[in-house]
Amino acid sequence: MTEETWGQIQQNLLQTVGKNNYVNWIEPLEYSDYDDGVATFLVPTHFMGNWVQRNFGDAILSEITKSGTPVTRLEFAVPNGGPKPQSAPRAARAVTAPQTEETAGAPLDARFRFDSFVVGKPNELAHAAAKRVADGGPVTFNPLFLYGGVGLGKTHLMHAIAWELKEKHPEAKIVYLSAEQFMYRFVQALRDKDMMAFKQLYRSVDVLMVDDVQFIAGKDATQEEFFHTFNALVDSGKQVILSADRAPTEIPGIEDRIVSRLQSGLIADLHPTNYELRLGILQQKVEQYSGQFKNLEISDGVLEFLAHRISTNVRVLEGALMRLFAFGALVGHEITLDLAQDCLSDILRASDRKITVEEIQRKVADHYSIRLSDLIGPKRVRTFARPRQVAMYLAKQLTSRSLPEIGRRFGGRDHTTVMHGVRRIEELQQKDSQIADDLELLRRLLEA
Ligand code: ADP
Ligand code: MG
Repeated sequence: MTEETWGQIQQNLLQTVGKNNYVNWIEPLEYSDYDDGVATFLVPTHFMGNWVQRNFGDAILSEITKSGTPVTRLEFAVPNGGPKPQSAPRAARAVTAPQTEETAGAPLDARFRFDSFVVGKPNELAHAAAKRVADGGPVTFNPLFLYGGVGLGKTHLMHAIAWELKEKHPEAKIVYLSAEQFMYRFVQALRDKDMMAFKQLYRSVDVLMVDDVQFIAGKDATQEEFFHTFNALVDSGKQVILSADRAPTEIPGIEDRIVSRLQSGLIADLHPTNYELRLGILQQKVEQYSGQFKNLEISDGVLEFLAHRISTNVRVLEGALMRLFAFGALVGHEITLDLAQDCLSDILRASDRKITVEEIQRKVADHYSIRLSDLIGPKRVRTFARPRQVAMYLAKQLTSRSLPEIGRRFGGRDHTTVMHGVRRIEELQQKDSQIADDLELLRRLLEA
């Protein structure tokens, strides 16, 4: 990446984050260097670096990736000797601006909309509740409390609600911010002896959304203020939407009166994703990005492979896909299963599901009613050879074993034999629905 490319990327960011955010947070970033997947920027203060990382990190990463630089991380450094004279005033203004309606909330991510949210069994209830609240009719669920593990879509749903409400009610005051930001502003108001304005500001909104409220628990003064704001709003029929990484009763340090107040609204949880949902999300992302990564081909089975193997969180899944895109754009050819495994080995290792080749062999032999010794053995008749290829294919797809390692476990066969088997099944999968069904069933059995 060069300074010039960064200039172009900044222009693209202007489109995604909007003029205000651009002027305050993106324009002041000074590109420093790029090394081994890490892009470094100079910022006038640590606060600013953290803020940009938190609020625009994903957007910046995705724009840099689109420009063809395979970036995995952003770093923000404060130059020795403190702020540079020319960039200081702008940053200072951004950081200590008086708290007004404009600055009461945090920016919304343009990508987090309902139409980009894939619905499946695990998030169906949370999605339905979010949709209902976003209709903006007479307040029904108040507060709405969304909870679930990291990367399951809480922030995405909250932003989606905010976008939709803004469209339907352009005049409504909708404020979204993280609990951490709420606390930061609260402390700032205390310090600036500006509590009246603070209270007024947050009690005059129509919709208040606070993300990751587990952060406030145990921080007594902030929790107290938050509770009053929250009560005042709910009492006057204003919508409040909160999220946390766990159920209210499980947040240590949260006051009982808050918990019981929450229980008068709707509490909806996002369950861990399942295979179908993960595959749906991947397919949607491929569609979403296909315009930006022209001529990018992904072999059959790669998305299924990712959906099987990366089951921890959607953010990691997306990150993996973005890396594949960047890599594919760089090397300029189709993304095969092999390439995917290579380029994502670190992520795959971290979320290894530990399915063994032996397990696959056993299940496949059972499924085709043949003996394990025949599956692994030397006989080449079709009744053994086809199941053997299926097992090799599954071993390649569901484990992180290399071709030679798989060959060794199939009676010491050569890696080219394994490769041939894997290819054969890849082809057959397209033409032969029986094989496709067998594979799907076996995968399910193995995942169970
Ligand atoms: P959380 O706030 O629960 O930690 P996020 O809302 O930030 O998670 O989601 C992490 C990433 O995963 C985001 O990029 C988001 O768009 C994506 N994501 C999560 N769930 C879905 C979904 N159901 N459909 C599409 N994208 C999703
Ligand atoms: Mg979140």
